[in-house]
Amino acid sequence: MLKFPIKDITSAGLNVSQDVELSEIGLSQQEVDVRSPLSVNAVLTRVDNTVIADVTVNAEYGYQCARCLEDFARQKSRELHFDFEVASPMDVIDVGEEIRQEMILNIPQRVLCSKDCKGICAGCGANLNIEKCKCQ
Ligand SMILES: [Zn+2]
Ligand SMILES: [Zn+2]
Repeated sequence: MLKFPIKDITSAGLNVSQDVELSEIGLSQQEVDVRSPLSVNAVLTRVDNTVIADVTVNAEYGYQCARCLEDFARQKSRELHFDFEVASPMDVIDVGEEIRQEMILNIPQRVLCSKDCKGICAGCGANLNIEKCKCQ
């Protein structure tokens, strides 16, 4: 779980290093194609009535190339920053929920397996990255 009670966050900050499954932050593979646990590193710092969270999330994401339609996976690291207003000493900071929203809002729409991807021949359907066009 990625929930932290305010009382655990001292002025010295709280360092968190955890591997979490997608389901632990309320996501399913249908929503976001992630093929490894999320490796989360976070530093939570309290300044007066604000908790500042600097979060790094590492995971292997699955994609379909927009040009050749091949399925591929790529390791990606994301840096996230959140501010939480502290309303009461009983508050709990839910970092997992912030990560969940971020991941849903930032699903890439158009991804290429490589910037030199040659795509698919419109004539014969050959994947030109791995085979030759058979059109002639
Ligand atoms: Zn491709
Ligand atoms: Zn062809």
